[in-house]
Amino acid sequence: MRYKTIFFDLDHTLWDFESNSNQTLSELITAYNLIDIGIPSEKAFISCYEHINEQLWEDYRKGLIDRLTLRNTRFHKALLEFNINDYELSLKLGEYYLRESPLKKNLFPHALEVLQYLKQRYDLHIITNGFNEVQYIKLEQSNLAPFFKHIITSEDANCKKPEPEIFEYALSLTQSTVSESLMIGDSLQQDIVGARNFGMDQVFFNPQKKIHAEKVSYEIHSLHELKTLL
Ligand SMILES: [Mg+2]
Repeated sequence: MRYKTIFFDLDHTLWDFESNSNQTLSELITAYNLIDIGIPSEKAFISCYEHINEQLWEDYRKGLIDRLTLRNTRFHKALLEFNINDYELSLKLGEYYLRESPLKKNLFPHALEVLQYLKQRYDLHIITNGFNEVQYIKLEQSNLAPFFKHIITSEDANCKKPEPEIFEYALSLTQSTVSESLMIGDSLQQDIVGARNFGMDQVFFNPQKKIHAEKVSYEIHSLHELKTLL
């Protein structure tokens, strides 16, 4: 096998962001009695929050807003959608979410078993656009940490996927070459196009079998497929 180094994305690739986030939001709705103050249902709040959060992350990725704005705005905006204007409450929700969600442990099916297999054959590292303080907690809590030699965050690299600089940084830190490296991730834009433009082979993790027109080196629908691919 020509590859020696494998870079994994974390959120939505190994760590089941959606399940972990939904679990946290559901707890938060109960803890702060949001139904009593006018949120119609758990489902309505979660879907509203997700939509707003995604938009704010998009703005963050484009450099339009900073991290603090992202964190302090998302719950306020979500509450406002239900005509609840309570900035203090939104800050408390934001703190609860930031504290509790990284402690959640849901991973994608076969994650640990596949990492166990790959670790014996390749050097494994993480490249994530998430923030240090939460990503390290997630990795520890969900037992992913021991599989990875380097955790490369956009914060440490001072650039984000899909920028070529973060891949350059990753290669230099891990002393790898582009031709012997592989990027595995769920985001076509950040992981796949990012790595492809840099000249690195990629595995697109597409559990929902989304239709797309990007040229990818490999595509999988379950992490389990990595055991035959690699
Ligand atoms: Mg991801």
